Amino acid sequence: MKVILAKNCGFCSGVKKAVDTALSVPPENTFVLGELIHNAEVNGQLSKRGIVTVETPEEVPEGATLLIRSHGVGREVYQRCEERNIKLIDCTCEFVKRTQRIVKEKSEEGKTIVIAGHRDHPEVVGLLGWCRGEAFVVSSEEDDFSLFCDKNVVFVSQTTFSAQRFLKLTKILRKVCQKTVEIFKTICYTTIQRQEEAEKIASLSDAVLVIGGLNSSNTGKLYEIASAHCKNVFRAENANGFKYENFLFYERVGIIAGASTPDWQTQEVLNKMEGNNAEVQATTMKDVVEEIGKEERYKKGQIISARIVSATDEGVYVSASGKLEILLAKEELACDNYTREAYAEKVGEEIEVMVVEISPKVKLSQKMLNKIREEDDKIKEIADGKEFSVVCTGFNKGGLTAELGSYPVFVPAKEIRSGYVKDLEKYTGKKLRLRVLEIRKERRKEIIASQRVILEEEKAAREEARAQKEAAFFDSIHEGDVVEGKVERATNFGAFVSVNGFDCLAHISDLSWTSVKNVTDVLELGKRYEFKVLKVDRTAKKVSIGYKQLQPQPWDLAADKYAEGDVVHGKVVRIVPFGAFVELEKGVDGLVHVSQITHEWLENPTDALKIGEEVDAKILAFNPAERKITLSIKALQPRPEQEPRPERKERAERKGDGEERPKTRKNSRRNTTGEEDDEYREWNESASFSTSISELLGNEDENK
Ligand code: SF4
Repeated sequence: MKVILAKNCGFCSGVKKAVDTALSVPPENTFVLGELIHNAEVNGQLSKRGIVTVETPEEVPEGATLLIRSHGVGREVYQRCEERNIKLIDCTCEFVKRTQRIVKEKSEEGKTIVIAGHRDHPEVVGLLGWCRGEAFVVSSEEDDFSLFCDKNVVFVSQTTFSAQRFLKLTKILRKVCQKTVEIFKTICYTTIQRQEEAEKIASLSDAVLVIGGLNSSNTGKLYEIASAHCKNVFRAENANGFKYENFLFYERVGIIAGASTPDWQTQEVLNKMEGNNAEVQATTMKDVVEEIGKEERYKKGQIISARIVSATDEGVYVSASGKLEILLAKEELACDNYTREAYAEKVGEEIEVMVVEISPKVKLSQKMLNKIREEDDKIKEIADGKEFSVVCTGFNKGGLTAELGSYPVFVPAKEIRSGYVKDLEKYTGKKLRLRVLEIRKERRKEIIASQRVILEEEKAAREEARAQKEAAFFDSIHEGDVVEGKVERATNFGAFVSVNGFDCLAHISDLSWTSVKNVTDVLELGKRYEFKVLKVDRTAKKVSIGYKQLQPQPWDLAADKYAEGDVVHGKVVRIVPFGAFVELEKGVDGLVHVSQITHEWLENPTDALKIGEEVDAKILAFNPAERKITLSIKALQPRPEQEPRPERKERAERKGDGEERPKTRKNSRRNTTGEEDDEYREWNESASFSTSISELLGNEDENK
């Protein structure tokens, strides 16, 4: 075990002055206001001398001597002592006096005094006693600093306050206070030195012992600082206050003493250490730093080969090039579950480690080395053009920021995507897919990357693939082909059907042989059907397909179902001047000419029929090729017994007398305007079926 003894041990100048004074003055009729120092043994010695400790001046007999300790007192204590004719021996430390002067003068100027310290500490109580106006005490960041926002503040500190905390509080105060803030760093130099030394020793040691009064403010601060830099910190008033056994397993033990700890108490502690272990060496910081200097030949970031020398519960000790053995903490080993036993078997093995810290002592890490190597491999890959992804952590005026391991990543705004990006904030927290534009390693490491190039590459690839697919599709599809497709969407003019991923149009007129109102009356969305390719327009990249073309045509079936002379049943679906169309089944209808509705003469078919009416009729003529059926209703009705009509009689008589008469068109059927019905003529004259109709009309005449 090596003991590192702090250089700045023992009484500070202020305490020394007070103790020396107390030990030198005649003790008779001498009093001290409060404990002279925060050290029970020293106070006990003074008491033995006959110096009495009092809490107020009023306890001191008039004319007696009162010793003011190094913490100082408030102004009114001096007044009360004067009133009682008490002779004062003022041992207020010069550092404390300086602070008292500052708060007195500044408060007289109307400033608000803020003291960093502990409200009950005698020094702070004394300082408050010198303030004329407003005065506050703060001790931590949790205090309410908003109280000072509109005040002119003078900020001082207790002489033994933590220098680091004073700095933190100063920052807060500066931020909060909208008016002036005057800062006086009134922490005494010896306190600062001791605190700095405590930090260093704690960093160098495996354990630290802080010696000093348990109610000593400065000793408390040293304990606090040491604890922040070492896991094993103990506090004791003197040699009796600690167990040596607690330090048995530590290689380096630091010893720090507070400002009110006399040297002899520190010496007793060292004696106890030595008395318990012959190996104990009391050494100074200088010795230790010299020894550590050997280790400091390493450079931060250096990769070294080291041999495992031993394994402990804290980690393994390694030795490199015969230098000092260095602890490689278990947390820094590249293993998930460290066990001393497992690593004891590796003693003698060479491992590579990285020097991650050289000051105050060398710290090695195998884990960090592996991590950096992994990162290097990754950086190499992305430098070669491999895509990588990061989460955007923020943005600035120029673009987005992120991190890749230890590398900051920057994506310029123009590299986020094609086009101008106005709102950069929305990318925060989002994943970015990037490709490196540049990796900066000199001075400041940084990766400049682009997402735009990836998005544009992908878009180009998609378009290329689509073009290839399209070309393959048009090579494979021909008019007349039967293809299978999925109905993707319906419009009022037809259905878009995906055939091998290409959108084809099935016009609504090509869905069914009968009239269709909605696409979904025939096809179900999302379902697959077979279609016939009707037209392929390779230039316009359009394909028309039909569904009905693969469905049986009702007229084709009708050829097997109907024949001339059959009596059929149907519904009147349309009435025109020359007759009525009767639907026999979906897609198959026939015409009942007006003359074939009844045996009576009808001026208009509506005189006898109405739409929707169901009728029986006889097929007079059937031409499936022409898709025409001629029907007669009256053929199923009994012919009425009638006298020939007068005009017929007359015609017969004229025939008999040989007189020449004007010819009338027997088959002419005129509409209300007297013109021949064009629709009927068209229906009638189409193809060869017109013959049948003419014949039919001739028959009609005969029937009449
Ligand atoms: S700690 Fe500093 S301020 Fe306090 S008595 Fe010692 S020297 Fe004076």
